[in-house]
Amino acid sequence: MEKEKVIIIGAGPCGLSAAAECQKQGLNPLIIEKGSVVHSIYQYPTYLSFHSSADRLEIADIPFMTPNEKPTRHEGLNYYRTVASRLHLRIHMYEEVVQLEKTAAGTFMMTTQHRTKGKQQYETENVIIATGYFDHPKTLHIPGEDLPKVSHFYKEAHPYYQMKVAIIGGKNSAVDAAIELERAGAEVTVIYRQEALSPSVKAWTKPVFESLVAKDRINMLWSAEVNEIKEESIIYSQNGKRVEMENDFVFALTGYRPDRTFMTQLGIQIDQETGAPFFHEHSMESNVEGAYIAGVIAAGENANVIFIENGREHGKPIAQHIASK
Ligand code: FAD
Ligand code: NAP
Repeated sequence: MEKEKVIIIGAGPCGLSAAAECQKQGLNPLIIEKGSVVHSIYQYPTYLSFHSSADRLEIADIPFMTPNEKPTRHEGLNYYRTVASRLHLRIHMYEEVVQLEKTAAGTFMMTTQHRTKGKQQYETENVIIATGYFDHPKTLHIPGEDLPKVSHFYKEAHPYYQMKVAIIGGKNSAVDAAIELERAGAEVTVIYRQEALSPSVKAWTKPVFESLVAKDRINMLWSAEVNEIKEESIIYSQNGKRVEMENDFVFALTGYRPDRTFMTQLGIQIDQETGAPFFHEHSMESNVEGAYIAGVIAAGENANVIFIENGREHGKPIAQHIASK
């Protein structure tokens, strides 16, 4: 069994940032990642441009250079790979952490499942949980949600040319996908439970979307909720009326929530109201000694309060706290 001083679960931007900070403190951390480096960003829509400027996404004091006002997903993937290789970060990829336990000696016992090597075990003095949220979409719990034509992840528009596509949600993912799908010749309907777009929709996409709605190129259904999804239609309700409309594909872009499995396995306190784990602000250490929280997992149900922009800051206090012990 391998023994480690620090293991970080997750090679997202915040896990990588925590690793870089630990390295600065001479800690030589190991990252265990179930996919590739920044797997969440890999899963973003293919042609996405970040809303953040490049300097706001930088980690480890390594410059993120781009001639664009906002970097693309492709540039982001390249940047975080560069960080990992420049710093020679130790990353075990395609290995999923499946269990985490505190031992009587105060260390942590970790069990993983490697893509080819199977079950592995590690003992570590400290663990940093940086598992993000993108794997866990907020589900609607309606009949038909698990049909193959329904997805919680939008990638690109081409396959939906001349298809009747319904988008559920009214924030950035929904608006971006609607604009891209309309441009590619899909017949787009956006079904949103509010009466107007959320103020969090970016100022540069909002007018484009509103113009497409005004020109009837996007069918916008306000104050509407989808009740059921069928193979060739969807049923929604609006103003007390139930309507069945023809439909080929559905994107339920309803946001994501952190998976709290490891935190509850370890006995980390979770706020019942907000869903946020307990941690000390100055160190990001949870109520379980040696277990730290980094990145968007620190947020509760309202995951949109932590981004790369601020989650990248979690690594420094964690590394300093571990080094000072
Ligand atoms: P993640 O990036 O989600 O990384 C977590 C990692 O942990 C993943 O690689 C995952 O595979 C791995 N993992 C999970 N479970 C396990 C396990 N059991 N074992 C091993 N590995 C595991 N933020 C910004 O600041 N600016 C932006 O412009 C921006 N644009 C965005 C666009 C979209 C479409 C989305 C969805 C989000 C955007 N965000 C943006 C938010 C940003 O992506 C997240 O805040 C960020 O990814 C959080 O980083 P993280 O390291 O905490 O988690
Ligand atoms: P989100 O911001 O969480 O929005 C989810 C949307 O789905 C909201 O409009 C919400 O309605 C709706 N919704 C949630 N549960 C629902 C339910 N049960 N029934 C009906 N509607 C429901 O998710 P997101 O738009 O995917 O964004 C996720 C993150 O990615 C954010 O941080 C965002 O900023 C980021 N993002 C960035 C970019 C970019 O950088 N280019 C692009 C897209 C997204 P309410 O409005 O009523 O809550």
